Amino acid sequence: MTRQAALPISVRQLTKRYGSLTVLDAIDLDVRSGEFLTLLGPSGSGKTTLLMMLAGFVRPDCGIIRFGDADVVRLEPHKRDVGMVFQNYALFPHMDVAANIAFPLKLRGVGKAETAERVEQALELVKLGGYGARRVDQLSGGQRQRIALARAIVFEPRILLMDEPLSALDKQLREHMQIELRQLHERLGMTTVYVTHDQREALTMSDRIAVIDHGRIQQLDAPHVIYDRPAGRFVAEFIGESTFVTVDVTEDDCRFGDVSLILGETPARLGQHELMIRPERLSILDGKQSPDINVLPATVRASIYQGDSILVQTLLADGTAVSVRASASVKPPAAGEPIRLGLRAADTYLLPDGAGRA
Ligand code: ADP
Ligand code: MG
Repeated sequence: MTRQAALPISVRQLTKRYGSLTVLDAIDLDVRSGEFLTLLGPSGSGKTTLLMMLAGFVRPDCGIIRFGDADVVRLEPHKRDVGMVFQNYALFPHMDVAANIAFPLKLRGVGKAETAERVEQALELVKLGGYGARRVDQLSGGQRQRIALARAIVFEPRILLMDEPLSALDKQLREHMQIELRQLHERLGMTTVYVTHDQREALTMSDRIAVIDHGRIQQLDAPHVIYDRPAGRFVAEFIGESTFVTVDVTEDDCRFGDVSLILGETPARLGQHELMIRPERLSILDGKQSPDINVLPATVRASIYQGDSILVQTLLADGTAVSVRASASVKPPAAGEPIRLGLRAADTYLLPDGAGRA
């Protein structure tokens, strides 16, 4: 299968309402040519609706969708040159594997010999070479999803859309397929829009992630930016664990109660800010520490042995609960014991102003 010249996708002011419910609210989105972009958001946030509008199965109320230079809003789905993989395979159970994969080629009038060759190539790409004569109902869930993927790419579309394609698979197979899909994307290079509600899946697979909530894109960035510098409280809480404490920034320091903190970056504005704490960035300090580590005094509530580590639940001075992991080889701190938590200056992050709006 050849590498296609990929196409960028450009969406402007895309809006969809069902009755009084605004499902997508004036979405602007640019997917770069050849990029793997993930739409990540909770159930009901509008991910499927957006993908279905890209594929042409749902008509927007207003807005523009461009693939390259072409305005596609009025184009029928089969004329959009888009491959699509759905959550529930959507294979034809009465056809064998080869016939399923050949279906889009048949629609496009590709001849028999070429069809046979391309079907076998697609099967090999999804690591099911030689499976053409099998019946779909003889295959496992993972194999069926690979067939669905082969069918979506066999006509070499320039854009590939996938809606939670791995959600029906068990965890181990899902994690395996995440890596495989990503590798396949690197080989074929088609512009890919992938939908998931699974934050780890999004972080694993994507060049960029668009976090969507209530029909609006809350942030569009590379995975490490989404994680380390969330644009607001929703993104911070949806991806990874986080705790927030209020700090007061003055001319010469940043105070959290009685504690003076060194920040990685000074905010533009003085006054109160929300400091995001990722629990895994906290350490339990013993005697000595370097000056670039902030010390947060806390009180132990409980230590819970979990095999690979000990979960230490603590309360910060202002009453905020945070948990930190300690090595299972140390003596667990007892309930009521004072403890000092370390947070590197480089790991401090203040939520930007205006954050947390819905
Ligand atoms: P997601 O894929 O993020 O879970 P959807 O795009 O499927 O979200 O749905 C977004 C919202 O739009 C939900 O509240 C859903 O109930 C509503 N919705 C989707 N399709 C329809 C429809 N055909 N008619 C009415 N409401 C719909
Ligand atoms: Mg959905």
